[in-house]
Amino acid sequence: MIKINIDENTFSELQSIHWEWFEQNYIKDAIKIREKYEKDNSSLGKLITHILDNNNIKLLVVGNSTLFSENILHLNEFIENILIEYPCIFQSKIKSSVKTYLSRIRTQMRLLQPYDKQGTENLKCQLKYFLESNYDILNLYIFNLDEVINNVSAIKKGNRISGFSEASFVTFKEDLLSENKFNKLTSELNKIFVYNDFLKEKTISFNKNGEKLNRRWCAYDFVTAISLSTCPICNRNYIHTYESKPGKCRADVDHYYPKSIYPFLSICLYNFVPTCHTCNSSFKGSIDTFLVKCLYPYTEEFGENTKFKTEFYTDCDTTSVENNKLLSGEEKYDIKYLYGNSDNFKISLECNNKHGENYKVENSANIFHIENLYNFHKDYVRELIKKAIVYNESRIDEIYNNFSELYENREEVVRMVVGNYICEEDLGKRPLAKLTKDICEELGLK
Ligand SMILES: [Zn+2]
Repeated sequence: MIKINIDENTFSELQSIHWEWFEQNYIKDAIKIREKYEKDNSSLGKLITHILDNNNIKLLVVGNSTLFSENILHLNEFIENILIEYPCIFQSKIKSSVKTYLSRIRTQMRLLQPYDKQGTENLKCQLKYFLESNYDILNLYIFNLDEVINNVSAIKKGNRISGFSEASFVTFKEDLLSENKFNKLTSELNKIFVYNDFLKEKTISFNKNGEKLNRRWCAYDFVTAISLSTCPICNRNYIHTYESKPGKCRADVDHYYPKSIYPFLSICLYNFVPTCHTCNSSFKGSIDTFLVKCLYPYTEEFGENTKFKTEFYTDCDTTSVENNKLLSGEEKYDIKYLYGNSDNFKISLECNNKHGENYKVENSANIFHIENLYNFHKDYVRELIKKAIVYNESRIDEIYNNFSELYENREEVVRMVVGNYICEEDLGKRPLAKLTKDICEELGLK
């Protein structure tokens, strides 16, 4: 993960154009929907009115200052308040998994024969485990969950769970299976926060002072303005924007907070992260990054505290990292790797964050499968190992001194030798630059 550097002036320009785009296309509808729900006292009505409040809506589209860190904090607070005040709506995702689970249990119960003691026991165990591991969320819906858990042992062979026939369970079931508030909320908000429109090429004809603008604004313009060469998440793929007729390409726009869970953040400028297709579609999906906190690439990165390194396989490693192949005894502690002559080693990510936010690094690395993917680059690392042996410090000095007219500084010689950028500020320029920098440090190639 490499921090996205964007200067404040550029970003504030993007903020104003994004807001103009929103005002010209959606503000009237937003007001209409807000008015429709203002008199609705249900939790859904209150929530929609709250989201579409004038101040909140601007916060959700462009934020209120040019500093990323402040805005993401505001968004965190905003989401937190919503979850506290309207939990049942946003936990519908969890509810639907509960629903799936319970229907599975019911099917299993139906299949149980009255004399199948082992089956009944197995079901009791499963159900108890399920109830206990989802205790917090279920406790919101079942007043006497403790009692239900204690009563699981009273499952009777006869397709009945005694604790579950109580009135509390009826309420729970109704909440689970009946009115789908979240879908209603999503469909209302999707009329205003229309991400798909951001993918179309729209022109903003005038600015807020009524002056002619005629500026195109869409995902292409956003990723062009952010201007990244490589994916900030994986630093493995190029993500240049290119447009021609016919044919064009651009980075994906990942939503830091997934739009499927937080529909009110689907066009939020602060929520847009240009990434490669693999990171956005294959791995990130709709993992709830509010619950599973991960690095926010506008303000955070792996940086100096999280580094790639190489190491021997150990006795604990039974398979190789990249292709899950069983490791033989000889493949562990294979000394040839130290000369760049063997693939029997692993590339790992080591986090030494002293300020205690390791969990964010770990979550990010896990979500995007960073370690496993980097183990596909052993050939690259093996070359670095050989280069580190051949190009010791004095040899690099020698090249620099002999060809001083070719190189601006000694660092440029190192860059040529390793074939990548290794300065902190240039890591986003070329794939695998962060890996190169860290491994060069490990090997003393400098
Ligand atoms: Zn990527």
